[in-house]
Amino acid sequence: MDGGFCTVKELDWSAGRLAPTPTGRLHLGHALTFFTAHQRARQTGGSLFLRIEDLDRQRCRRHFVREAVDDLKWLGLDWDGAPVFQSERKRLYLEAWQRLRDGGFIYPCVRSRREVSVLAPHSDEAVFPISWRASVEDALLYESPAGVNWRFRVPEGRVVVFKDQHFGHIQKTALEDFGDFLVWNRDDIPAYELSVVVDDLEMGITEVVRGADLLTSTARQILLYEALGGQAPAWFHSPLVCDSLGQRLAKRSGGLALRDLRAKGMSPAQVLELAAANVLNSG
Ligand code: GLU
Repeated sequence: MDGGFCTVKELDWSAGRLAPTPTGRLHLGHALTFFTAHQRARQTGGSLFLRIEDLDRQRCRRHFVREAVDDLKWLGLDWDGAPVFQSERKRLYLEAWQRLRDGGFIYPCVRSRREVSVLAPHSDEAVFPISWRASVEDALLYESPAGVNWRFRVPEGRVVVFKDQHFGHIQKTALEDFGDFLVWNRDDIPAYELSVVVDDLEMGITEVVRGADLLTSTARQILLYEALGGQAPAWFHSPLVCDSLGQRLAKRSGGLALRDLRAKGMSPAQVLELAAANVLNSG
């Protein structure tokens, strides 16, 4: 589906998702993203699923799941069927890992995340140096992914182009904007990029709505769709929301957690107005 004009046939199968990670409380940015996802799915008569991204057991908390569900309902959002928990879907991720390994797309990597991040201490993510690459043949020595990090070997200089329904034409270049990225962590947790692509494919998601902080991830994920032989969905990245100091809301909610705003007596409509008034208008 490419925005604008939708045929009746397309309306029959469109599906979106809400995908909170229960490592913290939902904030104003989540409210805007999830409200947009809900509106876009329901306006086209599509389905909407709730997927809890709880793979990182060290950092995820059950009470954040309960609070997220409660916050979403308070915002007036609904979804179809029971929530899907990523922690219950490891078999699917393992199948994808095997396919990527057999296809020569990934390799076992002995470098730690810390070794990579010190290369560019002031950016969100350093580009993994190609001189640190292992050979994809090494991958075939492994029967299971546990015990070592696994990275996707990005095609050198490949320009990934996609049309975002909000930001328009987006272009990211492999080895400039992003490097070989993690698909599996050595503590045996599937990485975000892989789990999301596997789930979006398996759940039949036709439009992904998420925050603009994930625009580069989308380029990585498009490479994973290609490697797995799947059709990528349409993309809508919603603008990021900032706090009163102009800092974008991320892990820290800067006092703009939905729970706090609710406690102050704000209504869902007021919360959404506040979010819209504080968007940062750049990718
Ligand atoms: N779980 C991610 C988050 O809470 C969103 C991932 C996605 O929508 O692809 O930011």
